[in-house]
Amino acid sequence: ADWTAAVTTIRELAPTGRVLLICHVNPDGDALGSMLGFALGLRRLGVARLQATFPGEFEIPEPFAALPGLDLLVPEEQAWRDPDLVLVFDVAAESRLGGLADRLPAARATVVLDHHVSNSGFGAVNLVDGAAAATSVVVEELLGRLDVPLDVEIAECLYVALATDTGSFRFDMTTPQVHEMAARLIATGLRPGEISRRIFDSRPFGAMKLFADVLGRARLDPAAAGGHGLVWTYATLADLERHGQRPYVLDALIDPVRCVAEVDVSVVVKQQADGVWAVSMRSKGAVDVSAVAVALGGGGHRLAAGFTGHGTPDEIVSAVYGKLDNSLI
Ligand code: 5GP
Ligand code: MN
Ligand code: MN
Repeated sequence: ADWTAAVTTIRELAPTGRVLLICHVNPDGDALGSMLGFALGLRRLGVARLQATFPGEFEIPEPFAALPGLDLLVPEEQAWRDPDLVLVFDVAAESRLGGLADRLPAARATVVLDHHVSNSGFGAVNLVDGAAAATSVVVEELLGRLDVPLDVEIAECLYVALATDTGSFRFDMTTPQVHEMAARLIATGLRPGEISRRIFDSRPFGAMKLFADVLGRARLDPAAAGGHGLVWTYATLADLERHGQRPYVLDALIDPVRCVAEVDVSVVVKQQADGVWAVSMRSKGAVDVSAVAVALGGGGHRLAAGFTGHGTPDEIVSAVYGKLDNSLI
């Protein structure tokens, strides 16, 4: 990672220039937390012209609606067309930036902060650590190199990012370093219990009923993936409508599905529009789901990946089946 170039670029452009921070479409806790945590750090440095945004509909998922730094967010359409500096968070490929991809060539410099092994290095400066549990690990390091001390607000943003991407410190990349970082963040005075309740353990009653419908139609195939097994289900826009729920509530749907003991692979197919579906995949270790996702036009990590599917849920899952045998680890 090119820390020196990143620090030099930021020190040169941020104090007087317009700084635009962007993250991936359908932002998760790592995308929003890393971006807002770094934005707050720049604000502490006295950077005055700051905007943060993400592509698509301007809607903050309820679990993240209390993050510090939300006042820096603007809708995509209001984001500067020709910023001086663009900082990109948790984005493996420009395709995940939607309409904001055109801000990159328009800027004087771009710095990419990320942790996807597949990251193509599309920035002028790329801080990509494929071994990092979350983009917020990279953000903490860069803030340190810019001499920005952690305060409780920055720490809360980075904690949300770290806790979401590690599944609350349960996944394999939960290294001693991850716990040491969590310790530094908690030492600023943040409240882990309160934060966890807000981001993981708060769900509208209607969302629970929606989950009941969608989980009720899940299908199990223990013979899939060379006997490692697959479970899958799908959720339509009509399901959301019937229960009066917003699409982001389905971000948490993969969690009960991936807990099915009989299988290695879990798949959730979520309707985005007529014939367009967002596909989430998880593996317990026998299958490299990022290989499946890449083969179908998406990306991600070995054990957590996704892509955009077309057709019906059955057709999309058939396409996944077609890539499983080549993706066994
Ligand atoms: P999730 O299932 O939580 O939406 O995404 C899991 C992982 O897969 C994330 O690391 C995310 O970056 C990646 N991912 C999900 N959907 C897509 C997609 O459509 N394209 C790409 N390139 N990556 C995706
Ligand atoms: Mn992400
Ligand atoms: Mn991430």
